[in-house]
Amino acid sequence: MGTTRREFILSTTRAIGLATLGGLVWGAYVDEVTANKLMLRPPAALDEADFLRQCIKCGLCVEACPFDTLQLARAGSNKPLGTPYFEPRDVPCYMCPEIPCVPVCPTGALDITKVSTNNELDINKAQMGVAVVDAKNCVAFWGIQCDACYRACPLLDKAIYLEYSKNERTGKHAFLKPIVDSDFCTGCGLCERACVTQKAAIFVLPREVALGKVGDHYIKGWDSSDDKRVKNAQATTTQTEISKESAIDSLNDTEVLLDD
Ligand code: SF4
Ligand code: SF4
Ligand code: SF4
Repeated sequence: MGTTRREFILSTTRAIGLATLGGLVWGAYVDEVTANKLMLRPPAALDEADFLRQCIKCGLCVEACPFDTLQLARAGSNKPLGTPYFEPRDVPCYMCPEIPCVPVCPTGALDITKVSTNNELDINKAQMGVAVVDAKNCVAFWGIQCDACYRACPLLDKAIYLEYSKNERTGKHAFLKPIVDSDFCTGCGLCERACVTQKAAIFVLPREVALGKVGDHYIKGWDSSDDKRVKNAQATTTQTEISKESAIDSLNDTEVLLDD
């Protein structure tokens, strides 16, 4: 029996509806994964994948934070539902010395050892993210005197410092440019909160997003830990058997050519 025009329109509409729904679900999934990579987690959070496995979304860390820094991702926010995060431009982490958000975590999703030195809490070890300066929009890079982010930093002159250089444009002024040292920056976001530009010209990104990776094959001759690495390195030799065939025979090996 042939399909009537009405049946055809109905099935086509259903197919389009399903495709659209599929597109929306896929879009939401992609949004969530992307947002996930950019989310800033509480101090001492495990790596993102492990954190998502361990966090039971109980909200105890959120409740423990006296500054309302932490919030739980809501439905429709395109973030992993119920997981804690913070947005420094709204409310940064004030780096409480007692770090009340961490010991309350019942699952180890927030790992206290990541913010402890000799069994003493040490918030300066937190690695929530790293601040990045947008040099095009930071007014200090234009030659305007502004040190709002620098002054806001709890690790002033360690996590962030001002670099002086001559302003060649005016010939008589100096630039005082904020520079972040990722070895010390905790990602608290107090600098982002303090930035005077309409949209912050210094902002915190998760470390995996903001930082590159040199690779183990580079050795810093001036760094004692790298020096140790070289001393402890094991020499390995690999041997490749040399073919006895002539180069021409090898290139014209029909078996190999036909295989491909
Ligand atoms: S360290 Fe303090 S301000 Fe920062 S998230 Fe934890 S409780 Fe909140
Ligand atoms: S206390 Fe731990 S398990 Fe609970 S929401 Fe916070 S990170 Fe997740
Ligand atoms: S995020 Fe900003 S304020 Fe916080 S430690 Fe890093 S440079 Fe300092």
